[in-house]
Amino acid sequence: MFPDERACSAYLEQVRWPDGFACSWCGTKGSPYRFEGRPTVLRCRNCQRNTYLTAGTVMHATRTPLQVWFWAAYLVTTQTPGMSALQFQRQLGLTRYETAFQMLHKLRAAMVRPDRDRIGAQWPVEVDEVLVGGKTRGEGRGVHHKTYVAGAVEVRSKKAPSGRRAFYAGRLRLQVLADRGKRSLEAFVTDSIQTHSRVTTDGWQGYDNLEAIGYEHVPVVLGGDPQKADKALPMIHLIFSNLKAWLLGTHHGVSAQHLPAYLNEFVFRFNRRFYPMTAFASALGIGTHVAGPTYDALYGGRWVHPTTVAKP
Ligand SMILES: [Zn+2]
Repeated sequence: MFPDERACSAYLEQVRWPDGFACSWCGTKGSPYRFEGRPTVLRCRNCQRNTYLTAGTVMHATRTPLQVWFWAAYLVTTQTPGMSALQFQRQLGLTRYETAFQMLHKLRAAMVRPDRDRIGAQWPVEVDEVLVGGKTRGEGRGVHHKTYVAGAVEVRSKKAPSGRRAFYAGRLRLQVLADRGKRSLEAFVTDSIQTHSRVTTDGWQGYDNLEAIGYEHVPVVLGGDPQKADKALPMIHLIFSNLKAWLLGTHHGVSAQHLPAYLNEFVFRFNRRFYPMTAFASALGIGTHVAGPTYDALYGGRWVHPTTVAKP
């Protein structure tokens, strides 16, 4: 879609002014002056002032070409394992590691905006907790600096062409836990899941009161059998194993201090995996001036294109 700088600029312009350019200083509509070799500058024919296409996005005031930014956003938001700065520098052929690092940092900052809606309602939810992270080098054997992370995922289903129901993972929530106690787990559940949702967990006593605090609780007693556990909570277990592989494989372990940011990035990518264009635009910061779609509109397929655009 984006063979050159001009194509990238045209996309930015189209997203920002779906009904045609309007000057951000005086509001005058109509075709602006354009400059050869500077496609991100639009000059108003009325007040002669410049409007920059990259204003308010992560690309503003950088000397890196738009096309490199677009590649970066695409790779960061759609590649399942995410990217390290070094892989990124090599893939885009950037001369300086520092440039790659700064770009990734800016794109990630836009990806850590947490999703705040509570999940569940008509969809049943799997909940479990897992021990992750920890840089253990030089501290002998055993578990060091590991952190509990709670996870909740919607189990969605639809009718497949064969007539059978196909199950797939809906929205995901992950959160660092202080411990595995009742109080911590209940706080996670009430923050993340709508009341009255059906919630499947293992038989851990931390979940004993879910019924009392308003959920339809389905505890599955597993007796320590890992195969049984995978059968009862297949989706959250698969997500946990992908999460651990990503933290270890791409980032070589993550300290407890930075874990929340990485969890947000993982959740961002997971929840937008069927909507790569939305993830792409919001990582570039393009979404910040645009009336975003609601979750239901987006996932219900009713969202077409932003229509109202605020002035910068
Ligand atoms: Zn103007």
